[in-house]
Amino acid sequence: MRKARAIALISGGLDSTLALALMQRLGAEIKAVNFYTGFCVTETQRRKGGRPDGTVPQNEALRAAADLEVDIEYVDVSGRAYLDMLVHPRYGYGKNANPCVDCRIFMMRKAREIMEREGADLVFTGEVLGQRPKSQRRDTLWVIERESGLQGRLLRPLSARLLPPTRAEQEGLVDRERLLDISGRSRLRQMALAREWGVTGWPQPAGGCCYLTDESFGRKFFDLLGGREALGRERRLEQEDVVLLSTGRHFRLSARAKLIVGRTEVENALLERHVEGRARLAARDVNGPVALVEGEPTWEERVLAARIVARYGQGRAAPAVAVEWREGELVECYEVPPEADEARIEAMRI
Ligand code: SF4
Repeated sequence: MRKARAIALISGGLDSTLALALMQRLGAEIKAVNFYTGFCVTETQRRKGGRPDGTVPQNEALRAAADLEVDIEYVDVSGRAYLDMLVHPRYGYGKNANPCVDCRIFMMRKAREIMEREGADLVFTGEVLGQRPKSQRRDTLWVIERESGLQGRLLRPLSARLLPPTRAEQEGLVDRERLLDISGRSRLRQMALAREWGVTGWPQPAGGCCYLTDESFGRKFFDLLGGREALGRERRLEQEDVVLLSTGRHFRLSARAKLIVGRTEVENALLERHVEGRARLAARDVNGPVALVEGEPTWEERVLAARIVARYGQGRAAPAVAVEWREGELVECYEVPPEADEARIEAMRI
């Protein structure tokens, strides 16, 4: 019997690494794939030069593939089609802005294309039946398989014996008896297997790898879409929105105007790259953050934005700070007292 040729979807987390290790032990020829959606926390931190504590995270999928000596292809899926899916998910959102079912379908379709291109027999993942409330329920796993066009070709090695056999199992390319029957949220069995197989180095704690599952990010995400609608614009997400959503402090000045204030030098530099179509604010004579205003602020909201920018700069204790407002050719300067009402600032924070 020839070896099964398999495409592995890996994140570098415990489950996908174990699935990879298991399929390797079953003798499959494996090519791993890691998708970059634009919302991966560690990858975004890595691209921005590191975490707030100064450490620079590694790409866990690349690390896991290297540890297990498997070829890996890094695929950027963060383009227009992914952004449109995020805004109009057919199966809705999870707890926050995470449309996990649609996202999995999207990724599996890409994986199917890679499987066909590579002439592989199957795609496998580290999904575990019942581990996540919505996207890993039995019925949802089936929906993902069907909607991605991978019927009978999508193997979940960690839970396979609890699921209908795939074609590769039926054809004897993969020994079903050696696949696993893990289900539920506990990771005790996975950790025991990792010890037994010498699988180490997965990120701790598990989870938290996608901005879309983060509550604060989700608030900003839905606020952004609501803000577009309040301005009579299309409910649509752009690439630069993705960058800005994970950058700076965000304040809703009104339904039609929003302020983003940089927190670090790196964030200030990032905001500078997205000035077009927005107003840029910065204190003129003292050090302080760069800030952007989006939308159509009233005069009062412009002054309020300037006061908040002054509050986060070195002039925060001064009676007044000169804040420059640049918008295309327009340059104005507002002499404003830094906003001192913390409760008011917090009430505006998104
Ligand atoms: S957490 Fe959900 S939305 Fe984020 S990458 Fe995973 S499946 Fe996609």
